[in-house]
Amino acid sequence: MEFSLEDHHEDLRRTLRQFFSKEAPIEVIAELDRQEIYPAEILDKVAALGLWGLAITDEYGGLNADEFSRCIVVEEMQRAGACLGYAFMPTALFCAPGIQRFGTDEQRRTLLPPTAEGKFRFAMALTEPDVGSDLTHLSTRATADGDSFVVRGQKIFITGADVADLIFTLVRTAPATDNSRGLSVLLIPAHDHAVTIRPLRKLAGQGTHTCEVFFDDVRVPAANLVGDLNGGARLIFELLDADRIYTAAQSLGIAQGALDMARQYAQQRIQFGKPIIEHQAIGHMLADMTIQVEMARLLTYKAAWLLQKKLPCSAEASMAKIAASEVASRCAQDGMQILGGYSYIVDYGMERYYREAKIQEIFAGTNQIQRNIVARHLQRLP
Ligand SMILES: Cc1cc2nc3c(=O)[nH]c(=O)nc-3n(C[C@H](O)[C@H](O)[C@H](O)COP(=O)(O)OP(=O)(O)OC[C@H]3O[C@@H](n4cnc5c(N)ncnc54)[C@H](O)[C@@H]3O)c2cc1C
Repeated sequence: MEFSLEDHHEDLRRTLRQFFSKEAPIEVIAELDRQEIYPAEILDKVAALGLWGLAITDEYGGLNADEFSRCIVVEEMQRAGACLGYAFMPTALFCAPGIQRFGTDEQRRTLLPPTAEGKFRFAMALTEPDVGSDLTHLSTRATADGDSFVVRGQKIFITGADVADLIFTLVRTAPATDNSRGLSVLLIPAHDHAVTIRPLRKLAGQGTHTCEVFFDDVRVPAANLVGDLNGGARLIFELLDADRIYTAAQSLGIAQGALDMARQYAQQRIQFGKPIIEHQAIGHMLADMTIQVEMARLLTYKAAWLLQKKLPCSAEASMAKIAASEVASRCAQDGMQILGGYSYIVDYGMERYYREAKIQEIFAGTNQIQRNIVARHLQRLP
């Protein structure tokens, strides 16, 4: 058993840590979030590193990076600022691998090269106003009409829809039966005149907008179907296993960022004649944060290792997602306590981690749903 990353993984982390501290310092991210400005310039520089092609094979211009590298990129990006992670993940680590794995040759040939170059964006649209956790009951309907589908319905909380070229959308194409959920994935052009996109105000990561999307009889070519007709649920559930591991990695980025910031502050801040890290209450808090981050990282990397080996990893992905997201919340909360009053001041950055952490327990399947997955896994054990 090996517990160390390869040298090239450590080099990747070091390079990215330097890159983001130069290109996306705390004050720049704070300003983008305050003004709700999409971090386009930083993401163009991310494109120059080739990172948009992380999950795309080299024949389409991508890096085809291993799962540990994908996690490291997500961790370092999220540590720098959630608006970056939110802008990056749906395209680079959900839709691109979705098209790579389930798309047609034509979809791969036309969509993956510009995506790898960072010139083409996707949003991923599952959630509806009345359906979040219980996706199989969604009602956005795509009706076949000649060689196209006509789509009518509404999605909500769709991150990056307003800057997307295509929306990777889960739609109902048939009634659910015992053998099929009747769902399919369609690539819907975001700029179609029958698509309306409205950003929502939100708590954190405001630089990348999370939107309502309305489909008002949008005509979509049948060639935009991804995977099998009525096979969308299986496709999405498979992609969600990996998505939960990357979401765990995002959470690690927040947890590690809060821990690093709190430790540095506690080494420098003098009260009662000594650095506050030497007061046992603070030292123990930092020790607990360190232990929790280490536990969450081990679970996350174990799930990534299973995914890399193409072994079943559904329960492990859920365990990693739960552990890392809850550790992120706890580290951000303890980090606030350690920075005292300064934690409340935007320029110090800790309040941003505090706001950013909560959603990690909610999206990509809430932690209650993840616990259901782990419990179902236990029920099946002999
Ligand atoms: C900032 C942000 C970004 C997002 N980005 C995207 C995106 O890009 N694309 C997308 O499709 N969606 C996105 N989402 C939606 C997100 O994935 C959903 O909010 C999430 O899946 C939960 O769905 P819901 O909000 O409808 O809650 P509900 O499903 O209504 O759940 C409400 C509460 O009930 C609990 N609950 C529900 N069912 C059960 C059960 N069986 N057992 C136990 N507890 C249960 C839940 O855990 C939760 O606590 C985003 C959301 C936010 C806030």
